[in-house]
Amino acid sequence: MKLFKQEDLDIFVRLSKDNRLCYKFLSELKWSEGFHCSRCKGISYIKGKKIHSRRCRNCGYDESVTSGTIFHKLKFDICKAMAMFYDIIKIKEGVTSVSLAKRYNLNQKTTWKFRQKVLKAKANILMQELHTCNGNLS
Ligand SMILES: [Zn+2]
Repeated sequence: MKLFKQEDLDIFVRLSKDNRLCYKFLSELKWSEGFHCSRCKGISYIKGKKIHSRRCRNCGYDESVTSGTIFHKLKFDICKAMAMFYDIIKIKEGVTSVSLAKRYNLNQKTTWKFRQKVLKAKANILMQELHTCNGNLS
């Protein structure tokens, strides 16, 4: 995942203002190595019903661009989520759910849950990178 590169971070400013761009961005990220249906592993698709979703030609499953990502089933705007995601990963010492709630005018429980999701995903990425490094060393 290339999300943490410095040159990519500017894009979050744009993402925080543009709903459609958020979904386009997620789509490019999610299917960067091609489409793989999460139900049948089919690789052929047509345009789905929802914004940037993809419908499997084999089984007909309409896969949303957010499913399987931390942006799935959010109770708030995707733009806010992108902006918060940036806030959570850019500040090393961590931003609190209380300050996120204040800044984005959301319930603290909501921001707490989202922050946990982001941190967990970040930890998983770091672990994967660690495994890759170990693999390269041996
Ligand atoms: Zn399928």
